[in-house]
Amino acid sequence: MSTQKSILILGAGFAGTTVAHLMKGKGFDITVLEYDKVPGGGCRTRWIGGHPYTFGPRIFFSRDDEVNACISSLVKIRQFFTKSYTYVEKDSALYNYPLQYSDLPKMPDYKQIEGELSERKGKTPSVNNFEDYWISAIGPSLYSKFVDDYSKKMWGIESNKNLSAEFEWVNRGTPIRDGDTRLYTDQFQGYPENEDGYNQFFDKALAGVKYIPESKVEYFDWDRRVVHASTGKFEADIIVNTLPVDYLFRLTYGKLQYCGRKFIPFVLPVSQALPDDATWIHYSGNETFTRITEFKKITTHKSPHTLLGMEIPDNQSRYYPVQSYSEKARFQKYQEMFPKNFYSIGRHGSFKYKGIPDAIRDALDVKKQILS
Ligand SMILES: Cc1cc2nc3c(=O)[nH]c(=O)nc-3n(C[C@H](O)[C@H](O)[C@H](O)COP(=O)(O)OP(=O)(O)OC[C@H]3O[C@@H](n4cnc5c(N)ncnc54)[C@H](O)[C@@H]3O)c2cc1C
Repeated sequence: MSTQKSILILGAGFAGTTVAHLMKGKGFDITVLEYDKVPGGGCRTRWIGGHPYTFGPRIFFSRDDEVNACISSLVKIRQFFTKSYTYVEKDSALYNYPLQYSDLPKMPDYKQIEGELSERKGKTPSVNNFEDYWISAIGPSLYSKFVDDYSKKMWGIESNKNLSAEFEWVNRGTPIRDGDTRLYTDQFQGYPENEDGYNQFFDKALAGVKYIPESKVEYFDWDRRVVHASTGKFEADIIVNTLPVDYLFRLTYGKLQYCGRKFIPFVLPVSQALPDDATWIHYSGNETFTRITEFKKITTHKSPHTLLGMEIPDNQSRYYPVQSYSEKARFQKYQEMFPKNFYSIGRHGSFKYKGIPDAIRDALDVKKQILS
């Protein structure tokens, strides 16, 4: 009889495939269940009219050397910097995003903004909630122009007061910048060198493990430790979950709130659409979409045409776990249900606004916990 321990991984995005990669050759029988035909989730590169793209930008930003080494062991990452702008319809203007002091005098309501900023000089911003934080940090005029509507449509919520103040937005800590207009200035930033993006990462990570695509996980019978999926019932000594926990635990505490996205890729018959240095543009007002990305700027694909991708918030899909106090409390109740040797990681498994490096970090931490 085999004494080999088994690991069942639910979901083959960055978190799940990295766990599979890290646990290979360590004496475990590894199975990965994935809903899609191919691994990678929204980070998988697909093509339209010969243009490579992912579902949204999916750039690799990281300040964690161990994470950088992990991704680089399977796919070569080319360094580049991202710059983004925000279009403000009521000013008919494009401004740097994150906010820059040098843009303020260009705004029609500059005098008002200047007054609001000087009232706040030297004061520590509020930590009551997301709205109070931003109004106390930058004043009501800039808040209304750049944060209020954008945040509500981004999260599909009525009020920014429900969002947690600890929620990490790109420029928390330095709400208005002075000088360097790159999106991130304090960490490594890059994208895979190859046209197929991260695909080799996922494919190499899963080579040699039991990968079952088109396998929809339905729920987990936690008393019997059985995972029910469209392809059968699965048991294992160790379960690593990267899926939303509400359905997995049969909605015991109700549905967790997410904001979804429709993603619309479209080709334009011009070689470039956005300004030279812009990777994407945010739309901060009542437009139905949040962001438009020009993929050539990320992939360096050569073509006389260009591919843009538009992100439209919806409630039909689940991509952004809403970081409100009530939803965080609901997630905590689910967490209390997790049985022994059940690890729940990644954006859904931990119900946090995580990026690619965080999903890889979670996998590195799980490896340490399992092996210890
Ligand atoms: C539009 C958008 C743009 C983004 N851009 C960036 C960026 O520029 N940089 C960055 O660092 N991060 C970005 N992110 C976030 C980042 O991509 C994610 O945090 C990261 O990929 C999460 O990996 P994961 O493995 O935790 O989850 P996922 O990638 O979501 O993996 C979960 C996997 O589980 C599968 N699955 C789902 N349900 C089931 C089921 N019932 N049964 C079986 N399988 C199932 C999915 O198909 C998927 O493959 C972006 C996210 C979005 C939505």
